[in-house]
Amino acid sequence: MPDGLIGEMVGAKSPLVAYFSMEIGLNPGVPTYAGGLGVLAGDTIRSAADIRLPLVAVTLLYRGGHFFQRLDEHGTQSEEPVKWVVEDFLKPLDPKVQIELEGRMVHIGVWRYVLSGETGYQIPVYFLDTDLPGNSEWDRSLTGTLYGGDQRYRLCQEALLGLGGVRMLQAVGHRQIGRFHLNEGHASLLVLGLLEEALASVGVDKEPSAAVVEAVRPRCVFTTHTPVPAGHDQFPADMAERVVGARYWRWLQLCGQTQTLNMTALALSCSRYVNGVAMKHGEVSQGMFPGYPVHSITNGVHATTWMAPSFKALFDRHLPDWRRDPLTLRYTVGVPAADIWAAHDEAKRRLIEFINHETNEGFDVNVFTIGFARRAATYKRLTLLFHDLDRLKAIAQRAGRFQLVFAGKAHPRDHGGKELIRLVHQFREALHGHVPVVYLCNYDMVLAKLLCAGVDVWLNTPLPPHEASGTSGMKAAMNGVPSLSVLDGWWIEGHIEGVTGWSIGDRVEACLEPSSGMDACHASALYDKLEQKVLPCFYKDRDHFIEMMRQTIAVNGSFFNTHRMLAQYVNNAYSALDESFSKVLAG
Ligand SMILES: *Cc1c(COP(=O)(O)O)cnc(C)c1O
Repeated sequence: MPDGLIGEMVGAKSPLVAYFSMEIGLNPGVPTYAGGLGVLAGDTIRSAADIRLPLVAVTLLYRGGHFFQRLDEHGTQSEEPVKWVVEDFLKPLDPKVQIELEGRMVHIGVWRYVLSGETGYQIPVYFLDTDLPGNSEWDRSLTGTLYGGDQRYRLCQEALLGLGGVRMLQAVGHRQIGRFHLNEGHASLLVLGLLEEALASVGVDKEPSAAVVEAVRPRCVFTTHTPVPAGHDQFPADMAERVVGARYWRWLQLCGQTQTLNMTALALSCSRYVNGVAMKHGEVSQGMFPGYPVHSITNGVHATTWMAPSFKALFDRHLPDWRRDPLTLRYTVGVPAADIWAAHDEAKRRLIEFINHETNEGFDVNVFTIGFARRAATYKRLTLLFHDLDRLKAIAQRAGRFQLVFAGKAHPRDHGGKELIRLVHQFREALHGHVPVVYLCNYDMVLAKLLCAGVDVWLNTPLPPHEASGTSGMKAAMNGVPSLSVLDGWWIEGHIEGVTGWSIGDRVEACLEPSSGMDACHASALYDKLEQKVLPCFYKDRDHFIEMMRQTIAVNGSFFNTHRMLAQYVNNAYSALDESFSKVLAG
């Protein structure tokens, strides 16, 4: 980065980028994230702080967090609001703004979280809060729960984030922001705020024209995250008009919204650059949105956040620049195998100790350990591994023992996902005495760190092409843990058979409906791979297994990180072909 970019961001007037996200995983103590989208947002901001990119971020303050998960002995999930002390992490600021929702004035306050990078560069994250005395009960609840409530609640939240967020950035003093990055379509209503700004700057108090809409486009960058149409937020026109009011609804119509308010379509039509989150996802998205060029920038994870202490110490010793420059991890090829195994062994012992403390299952450090943890969404096929229990038992007998660790929350209204968690508990009973299985409660960033680093292989079984990217396998790769995965999302790019892990089945283009045929086919491929390749490699050819761990870090850890990802956003999305931006970059 040129010197011109270096400066104290907190309080700075002209950040280059404002990053908007419905959820952000900043700190394990701040439960305002649900899963991959929020963790990615947090990792992105952490990398921005490390590379001293002038960026600010905006999200909502969820006093009840996502939820705290409890599981009874049958695996039945119940949810409680997460109790956390906002003041312990965030600082309240003075500015207040208002937006009109359903004809009422809603007051919005703001809290600031300050994130510090490797060299002390600070990035502010603003949390909008409507739990203020002047607001109605309903309005006060709007910043209560992440992904809670009905469509109306959701649309009000998105109006707060987008429109409220733009007004708040002005109120706290961040003017003349170069780029607005929409992390998923949830933030699309920020377009209204930008239209307002554009009108104000030409000094007219009238309705925007098509030319004003054109002035907004160079400022927006849109990252889409879902390869299935049902995953894109849509609201009926009458609801949209009621929530944002007749005037703003006319503006949205000018931006192409007529039958419904489609947040993805809105973002597409108002952005200079659109991308999917892996090569394949970019292609699938391009097929879904033929009217717009859709690029790909593959996700990553923040290296120092996700690496276990034992690996951090190892790389501090061997590759002292790795924290600042994770590309350096490519040189892991020169790190002695014995040191890699020792670092893994330590990470594994920490996990096994934790599992035994939590569950009393008597997990054994010497036994091959398979990890599977992610949101219990149906397409992730949490139970694929249990397709044929007899086969599974036979593999354990013939090819070597293994133990399974699971974790993941189901969305409170996802009955299919909750059923899958119960099923894992039933399979656990059925496998008793043959294959030890645990399901750890309340999957979050802390648990993810322990799990991704401490298992011997990371299992991933999504139904293609539903996994836009997936990032937990990248966290595992940072710690030398190879993946055993269906070829979807990032794994299409990260997979080298027998080098960075193993594939389950061949590459298929698409399988949009859950299909039992595909399940049977993938389960059988999974069993074959486990029995013939994975377990023999671990038990009979340990040197090769450790060499795979080394290659996993060298090839995948060095690439699938958010430093590389953000460099691509800077080069391809934020700065492309833009005079004023180049001037700022040149200092
Ligand atoms: C990384 C992470 C995820 C995302 O995992 P995927 O593999 O992308 O599904 C979800 N939840 C938590 C807590 C995480 O740390």
